[in-house]
Amino acid sequence: MLTDRTTLTQFLIEERRRYPGASGELNSLILNVALACKAIAKRVAYGALGGVLGTEASTNAQGETQQRLDLVANDLFLRANEWGGVISGMVSEELEAPHPIPERYPRGKYLLAFDPLDGSSNIDVNVSVGSIFSILRAPNSGVNAAVEDFLQPGSEQVCAGYAIYGPSTMIVLTVGTGVHGFTLEPQLGEFILTHPAIQVQAAASEFAINASNSRFWEPAVTRYVDECLAGSTGPRGKDFTMRWVASLVAETHRILTRGGVFLYPREMRDPAKPGQLCLLYEANPVAFIIEQAGGLASTGRARVLDIAPEDLHQRIPFIFGAREEVERIEQYHRDHSVVEDDAPLYGSRGLFRTNG
Ligand code: MG
Ligand code: MG
Repeated sequence: MLTDRTTLTQFLIEERRRYPGASGELNSLILNVALACKAIAKRVAYGALGGVLGTEASTNAQGETQQRLDLVANDLFLRANEWGGVISGMVSEELEAPHPIPERYPRGKYLLAFDPLDGSSNIDVNVSVGSIFSILRAPNSGVNAAVEDFLQPGSEQVCAGYAIYGPSTMIVLTVGTGVHGFTLEPQLGEFILTHPAIQVQAAASEFAINASNSRFWEPAVTRYVDECLAGSTGPRGKDFTMRWVASLVAETHRILTRGGVFLYPREMRDPAKPGQLCLLYEANPVAFIIEQAGGLASTGRARVLDIAPEDLHQRIPFIFGAREEVERIEQYHRDHSVVEDDAPLYGSRGLFRTNG
């Protein structure tokens, strides 16, 4: 069966041949990430038999209770990647500070940020979970990465991807040349190219939002959702369906596969918490993938990939998917500007520039 199929390794080597100066270090990094994902897939698949379900007493950098599998997955990511000599630091959802590369290994020219297990509250109910990763160039190659080194806008990413542990395990990634999906062949332990050149449909009639938070929405979001709910008799003139899995990876994969739009908008309940999703290892990699697939990713007011991060674990509002829907939602944010709320975070010169 392999003669007419492309493995992830072959795909990466053929991509690299198009750039004669490329060293192959990026490929080895991506393959190490893929190895971590295979190991996590196996733990996830064993479920209760693997003795890794349930919660830990600890909390992560976001203050969330850690699942046992969060820590197992984090450890698998660190061990698979720290030895290779191609990265100078790692940032994880599960770690407050960057993970230093052990002294005995060389430092390289890339940085790796990841959410080792996304949607981990879904584990106990046996619903799809995933891993998300983002690769940046290290500003200072060969030395230990500092916190500031990771604070690059998402447009600087050289690779982004996710693994989804569903009925089948897949890796979906971009190295800036479109979005490609690979399915794990479990007997061979190889990721095989099954979904080349994935595109997000420009229009959508499916939206994903946590409607239990509707009382905290801004007027722009309320208007958008009301118009979807009004269906064929409303201003949109067509019926919509709604989905909510509460797993960013599963929502992203659905939108890449059959279209739609996802909203975790800014909420008005706590001005200090302008969003829910983490910029460096959730929103940026998903935004890079979605844009490479022809969709859009926005805070509602600005392109996600343009945001200059201020903090490793910064959270932002996140709206992404079908181009026409995201453009419409951005227009509604302009139409219904919440001026007094906008002032502290959104100065006239752009996102998060408040003092001058
Ligand atoms: Mg997550
Ligand atoms: Mg996580």
